[in-house]
Amino acid sequence: MNKGSKLYEGKAKIIYETKDKNLLIQHFKDDATAFNNLKKAKVEGKGVLNNRISEYILTNLSQCGIKTHLVKRLNMREQLIRKAEIFPVEFIVRNIATGSLTKRLGIPEGTVLEKPLLEYCYKNDQLKDPLISKEHIFSFGWADEKEIKLIDKLTLRINDILTGMFRAIDIKLVDFKIEYGKAWNKDAEKKEIVLADEISPDTCRLWDVKTEKKLDKDRFRKDLGNIIQAYQEVARRLRIMPEETNISEVNFGKTIPIKFKKK
Ligand code: 5GP
Repeated sequence: MNKGSKLYEGKAKIIYETKDKNLLIQHFKDDATAFNNLKKAKVEGKGVLNNRISEYILTNLSQCGIKTHLVKRLNMREQLIRKAEIFPVEFIVRNIATGSLTKRLGIPEGTVLEKPLLEYCYKNDQLKDPLISKEHIFSFGWADEKEIKLIDKLTLRINDILTGMFRAIDIKLVDFKIEYGKAWNKDAEKKEIVLADEISPDTCRLWDVKTEKKLDKDRFRKDLGNIIQAYQEVARRLRIMPEETNISEVNFGKTIPIKFKKK
């Protein structure tokens, strides 16, 4: 599938058009950003790993009956995906309190939540993705009640599947962010809700069960170092280390800071 013109460039991915108006190419970059773009770096090999990890997770979810935008992985950095009209909402699930939840509400770090907590954020970089309620979503027409009811159900099911998948490799799924969109169904007769974007150590918090070592983007956010080694560890435990990759060739582990401004 040949790449057409660039449709959109985000912080970690680029979306290209293809000859088929319903299909796009999603390219995973090595760029890492945090704190609303204030901290930026190139983490060599991150795009390759996220491409593989996200492909693995979305394929597994699809086998469990969750509809996703993924058609297939094309190469080390690219996936063929269905074009979807993305809801401007980030859906966050939390199993253990950390990150913005502890900051916002003073909940002690590491508190195991009695049941998964669902949060909604408005996808808007300029506004720093603010937390919103379902009523905001309905008021501003970002999704309707029927759609959110289905998305909530899917999100909790995804949490169950992923919690089990990671538990099997001695990783706690602490929290994660997912996105959904509406894409044409197979017969192009109606649009259906599909899981979009990616699920990877960029979008999840993953802690080793025994040591609670962070195996996710918090290594970058908190300057813990060994970012790529942590992502590789996740891929290794999932048994999906990219077989066609010569690790020394892509220089995994090298982090090139671009800019760092303190808030
Ligand atoms: P928090 O709200 O604690 O910063 O993040 C909660 C979870 O959602 C974490 O797993 C975090 O990685 C993910 N998350 C929230 N917003 C974003 C975002 O804009 N980009 C990415 N990659 N992950 C996000």
